[in-house]
Amino acid sequence: MKFNPRLYPENWSDLAASVKKEAKWCCQKCGLKCISPGEDTSKLTRSERMKRTLQTHHWDRNPSNNSAENLIALCSGCHLLYHQGGKSNVSPGQLSLW
Ligand SMILES: [Zn+2]
Ligand SMILES: [Zn+2]
Repeated sequence: MKFNPRLYPENWSDLAASVKKEAKWCCQKCGLKCISPGEDTSKLTRSERMKRTLQTHHWDRNPSNNSAENLIALCSGCHLLYHQGGKSNVSPGQLSLW
């Protein structure tokens, strides 16, 4: 699926933030503690930071369905797995909005 910013609601960043907050900044699949706002990340390497970035995933992969049941907080590793399906040309950076 191509990323289409018009499908996202205006308050998407608020929505995503509340999903992550509710998950207590942990991945809801593997339980990895991710970087929370205000956390000092200066000692983390680039890849550690990438790995511990919490992202919001749509279960049905429909970004216009933003009901609470459709949203889950995932670390970038788990998120990538959900989107891979064998032939991925998706970069973790792109995923941060999905
Ligand atoms: Zn995870
Ligand atoms: Zn996703």
